[in-house]
Amino acid sequence: MKFNTKTIHAGQQPEETSGAVMPPIFQTSTYAQEAPNVNKGYDYARVGNPTRTALERMIAGLEGADQCACFASGCAAMDAVLKMFRPGDHIIASNDLYGGSYRLFTEVFEPMGVDFSFIDMTDMEEVKKAHTDQTKLLWIETPTNPLLRIVDIELLADFARNNDILSLVDNTFASPYLQRPLELGADITLHSTTKYLGGHSDVIGGAVATSNNEVMEQLRFQVKTTGAVPGPMDCYLTLRGIKTLSVRVQQSVENAKKVARFLEDHPQTGNVIYPGLESHAQHEIAAKQMDDFGAMVSFSLKDDSQEKAKEFMSRTSIFTLAESLGGVESLVSHPASMTHGSIPRKVRLEAGLEDSLIRLSVGIEDAEDLIEDLQQAFE
Ligand SMILES: *Cc1c(COP(=O)(O)O)cnc(C)c1O
Repeated sequence: MKFNTKTIHAGQQPEETSGAVMPPIFQTSTYAQEAPNVNKGYDYARVGNPTRTALERMIAGLEGADQCACFASGCAAMDAVLKMFRPGDHIIASNDLYGGSYRLFTEVFEPMGVDFSFIDMTDMEEVKKAHTDQTKLLWIETPTNPLLRIVDIELLADFARNNDILSLVDNTFASPYLQRPLELGADITLHSTTKYLGGHSDVIGGAVATSNNEVMEQLRFQVKTTGAVPGPMDCYLTLRGIKTLSVRVQQSVENAKKVARFLEDHPQTGNVIYPGLESHAQHEIAAKQMDDFGAMVSFSLKDDSQEKAKEFMSRTSIFTLAESLGGVESLVSHPASMTHGSIPRKVRLEAGLEDSLIRLSVGIEDAEDLIEDLQQAFE
């Protein structure tokens, strides 16, 4: 099955009793048993729910994974993964990372004894330098947030395999429509389904997909034991969103290319960061591992200050000032004061995150309107 067909059919069958084409929202907490422990595959809804199963099979199909476990949020999915590790274990992660991931790593798991190195993962030498006997996982995010650096998944997955450690890719920014990490050799792929998979900014969710049985067993144990599960309505909404993933992302990417070119030519912009621009430092790697270049665009102002960035954002009207990304509507945000506010300024600047950096999540509106909105905000 090719990708667009999968977004409609992967793991989906008409419902048994009625033939309903969309999986019903199984709004139940428990299931009748014929005799103790004799059931139809479901015993209690923390452990499993058929609407959730339909979503898990869908995401597994899209990522080319054997299995997927869904969670109440992307953060809950990350939390479940990190609970596989023990004090003394070491994880190598990017220094240009989703702010919530950084907070979870440094404020929850570091105090419990898990060690992290935050490095520039586009530099293989840095990865080798950070690697120790205790290293258990490479936590890759690509494109990174908000600097949209591209990490070579194949290269790092190879390194991980050769050193007997796991590799995980947070695939939220690309979506499986554009990038499938397992095909490139990674062990685990993770999503905030809140973003492109859900696609309509109306539901929070997370997912982890893998073909590694040991990892999946541990995740299922976390699902059952710590219970950060998505409700059936949320699973249904996410599944509904996924049906249009291909057409949404395609349109967003086309718009993003036009917006990036407009910004690159504008005299008031500083750095314009978009993996599809030839000026992007890892443009070649993006072309190799992604089917297209994504719909996130970041740029700084020539006049680099938080003030100027905030002024600019107060003047856009189609681009809504909000956190999050990956919905049908275009959003604008200011990482230094919003999503990455919990990262110390010094760490931010070292990673190259300028004060005026503005991040756009380009939606599916008409590109002409989006460009006009930005144009008038500059004026
Ligand atoms: C949003 C996001 C998360 C966290 O997901 P939530 O659903 O908001 O909990 C993790 N990683 C990335 C890259 C994200 O954009």
